[in-house]
Amino acid sequence: MIPRTVYDSDHEMFRDSVRRFLENEAVPHHEEWEKNKQIDRQLWNKAGEMGFLCPTVKEEYGGVGVDFRYNAIVDEEIARLGLSGIGFGLHSDIVAPYIENYGSETLKKKYLPGMVTGDFVTAIAMTEPGAGSDLQGVRTTAVVDGDDYIINGSKTFITNGQHADLVIVVAKTDPAAGAKGTSLILVEAGSPGFSKGRNLDKIGMKAQDTSELFFEDVRVPRENLLGQEGMGFIYLMQELPQERLSVALNATSNAEAALQWTLDYVKERQAFGRAVSKFQNTRFKLAEMSTELSVTRTFIDRCLELHVQGKLDVPTAAKAKLWSTDIQCKVLDECLQLHGGYGYMLEYPIARAWADARVQRIYAGTNEIMKEIISRSLV
Ligand SMILES: Cc1cc2nc3c(=O)[nH]c(=O)nc-3n(C[C@H](O)[C@H](O)[C@H](O)COP(=O)(O)OP(=O)(O)OC[C@H]3O[C@@H](n4cnc5c(N)ncnc54)[C@H](O)[C@@H]3O)c2cc1C
Repeated sequence: MIPRTVYDSDHEMFRDSVRRFLENEAVPHHEEWEKNKQIDRQLWNKAGEMGFLCPTVKEEYGGVGVDFRYNAIVDEEIARLGLSGIGFGLHSDIVAPYIENYGSETLKKKYLPGMVTGDFVTAIAMTEPGAGSDLQGVRTTAVVDGDDYIINGSKTFITNGQHADLVIVVAKTDPAAGAKGTSLILVEAGSPGFSKGRNLDKIGMKAQDTSELFFEDVRVPRENLLGQEGMGFIYLMQELPQERLSVALNATSNAEAALQWTLDYVKERQAFGRAVSKFQNTRFKLAEMSTELSVTRTFIDRCLELHVQGKLDVPTAAKAKLWSTDIQCKVLDECLQLHGGYGYMLEYPIARAWADARVQRIYAGTNEIMKEIISRSLV
C-alpha cells in the first residue's frame, strides 16, 4: 500500500471525530431518511456544533479558518459510510467559497456564521429544466428595480433544495450579453415569490433532498449580488475545480469502501464448496480493482495537495473528476457482481452505493463536459 502523505496527525484526529459522529448520528438513521427523502434537519446543527461545517471559513466569520483538507476529510468519511443523503459537501465546499470570495463584508457577516453553525443550510441553483451543461442558456432573469432585483425563473435538480435557507441563484442580469450577462445572487427561503417544488424521485441518493425551485417576482436587495454584475460565469469557472475535487474525493473513498465490503463478503460466501474469494476470477477482479484504486488515490491526493497550495488548475480538476467517477462506477459494478444476487438487494450497502454513484458522472459537469475542458487545454 502507498501511504497517504497529504494528511498529518491533527487531520487524523479530526477524521476520527467525524467518523464517530457520523456512525452515531447518521448511520443508524440513514435508511429512515431515505424513506423520508431527506435527512433530519437537526443533523446540520449537530454537525455545526462539532465544527464539521465550513471549516475553511475564517474566524472573524465564525469558522476556524483551516485549509481545505478538513473539508476533504468530511467528504471522505461521508462517502466511506455511504451516507449519500448528507449535503455538507455542497454547503461547505461549494457554496461557502462563493460567499467568502465574492460576497461583500455585509453578506459575509450576515450569512457565514449561520452556515458554520448549521442554522443556514445552503444550495446553489444553476441548472434549469432547459439548461444544464450549457449554462449560457440560463433563462432565469434578475432585473434591477430601484434598490432591488426582481428574479423570475425556475431551477431543477437542486441539492439541499428542501432544507435550503439560502440559495445562490444563477441569473441573467443582462440576457442580451450571453455568458457576460450572468450574475450570482443570494436569495433567502421565505422571500415572497420563492417556492420549493417537488423533492425529486431519484434512482439513488434517496435521502438527498434534490428539488425544483421556483422564482416568481422575487424581490431581493441589490446588495445580495455576489461580486460584480455580469461576472457570474467567471466566478463559476473559478470555483468549479474545488467542486470537482470534492466529487473526486467522494468517489475515491466510496469505491475504496465498496472494495472492502466486497472483500469481507467474498471471504464469507460459499459456492461449489469453497469461499467465492478462492476463484481465480474473484481474485483477479479484486487485484484489478485494488490496483485501479491505488493509482486513483495517489492522483487524487496529489490534486488535493496542489489545491491546498492554490495550484490545482481547471483541466487537472476535470481529469480528477472524470477519472475518479469513471473508476468508482466501474469498481462498484464489479463489486456488485461479486455479491451475486445479494448485490442487487438494497439491504446490502453495495446495492445502494451502486445506485448512488451513477450520478457522479453527471453532476458537477458531466464527464463529457470534463473531456471538453481537458481537450481544450490540449488543442
Ligand atoms: C442528483 C443531482 C444533483 C444535482 N445537484 C445540482 C445542484 O445542486 N445545483 C445545480 O445547479 N445543478 C445540480 N444538478 C444538475 C447537474 O449539474 C446537471 O444535471 C448536469 O450539469 C447535466 O445537465 P443536464 O441534466 O441538463 O444534461 P444535458 O446538458 O442536457 O446533457 C445531456 C447529455 O448531453 C451531453 N452533452 C451536453 N453538452 C455536450 C457537449 N458540449 N459535448 C458532448 N456532450 C454533451 C451530456 O454530457 C449528457 O450526456 C444535479 C443533478 C442531479 C442528477
